[in-house]
Amino acid sequence: MSTLITNIGELVTNAPEAGGTGFAALNDAALVIEQDTIAWTGAAAEAPAADDRVDAAGRAILPGFVDSHAHLVFAGERGAEFAARMAGIPYTAGGIRSTVAATRAASDADLLANLHGLAAEMLSQGITTFECKSGYGLTVADEARSVALAAQVTPEVTYLGAHVVPPEFEADPAGYVDLARGPMLDACAPHARWVDVFCERGAFDADQSRAILAAGRSAGLQPRVHANQLGHGAGVQVAVEAGAASADHCTFLSDADVDALAASGTVATLLPGVEFSTRQPYPDARRLLDAGVTVAIATDCNPGSCFTSSMSFCIALAVREMHMTTREAVWSATAGGARALRRDDIGHLGVGARADLVMLEAPSHAYLAYRPGVPLVAAVWQGGSLAASPDVLTGGSQAVQE
Ligand SMILES: [Zn+2]
Repeated sequence: MSTLITNIGELVTNAPEAGGTGFAALNDAALVIEQDTIAWTGAAAEAPAADDRVDAAGRAILPGFVDSHAHLVFAGERGAEFAARMAGIPYTAGGIRSTVAATRAASDADLLANLHGLAAEMLSQGITTFECKSGYGLTVADEARSVALAAQVTPEVTYLGAHVVPPEFEADPAGYVDLARGPMLDACAPHARWVDVFCERGAFDADQSRAILAAGRSAGLQPRVHANQLGHGAGVQVAVEAGAASADHCTFLSDADVDALAASGTVATLLPGVEFSTRQPYPDARRLLDAGVTVAIATDCNPGSCFTSSMSFCIALAVREMHMTTREAVWSATAGGARALRRDDIGHLGVGARADLVMLEAPSHAYLAYRPGVPLVAAVWQGGSLAASPDVLTGGSQAVQE
């Protein structure tokens, strides 16, 4: 089964074979999906025949968004906390505890229903791969069920037992670290690919973070780190030392932090929705890009510091508030996210890539920032199958609409 999508106004490929590692696009293009992979891309006039044909009518097609940072296993909501924050109360790591209480009290079925709802929300907005962290259970049983539930909706599961020290360990944080790198890790590792730690004042210090990441690595998990969100600190250095795939947030960086990232294989994942939702200063994306750091953009979708599942919104923020070009922002939300997950099969539309793609109700990628807040994702293919919003294809192939 093959599908030709033709008459594409702008086809963003980010294809490695196009030379270079940055944004790459073709105009007046076509592509062919064969089963679940990209089989061909090129000029529409040169496109080969296929079993089905979709007319993009001049719309843009991009790789599916890769959201490399999300916290979707939770119960409850924190709308009142957000409103209070907008009225002047600053964000602290302690707010996580209210979600922990609600998550512990929730049934598996309720957690899974919330997870499915958020995953569907993401897919309809063009996110075809997302990472999902635990971190609102913070007991052995609640963390274990969190990663097990996450594994039902994504292969990119992260064990984040070291999200915050739970209230019952307030007087014994060292005891909690021992739990998080011992029995809790053992219960979670079979369901997870990644280990993460919130290395921040009010959460875990550098030595605690190193101990948890080292234990995670011994259990077969690859590290990633919440780093330098709320202030300067050791997070980025800890991430680079651990060979982490990604240091996430990177809002408060020293020159040494930037140099360390540039010299490492660690991606800087920026989460501008958090700065929007906590009214903090945005990370300096230009400083990172100019230093040669690989930058990803992710949603950080979570009930406390940033409750958006819209990568389009994050791209618009990255362009407007972090001075990224539209091309850089789209690359970071696709190929950059793939780098942060150490995946080479997604984030681009080169031949052989997974056929995860987004069709915009717009002629170019720039509209994601040019028309902020407008739902421009018209259709989504995931693994070669039309997954969301096929209405726009009326007049195209009947077979595709079924
Ligand atoms: Zn996070």
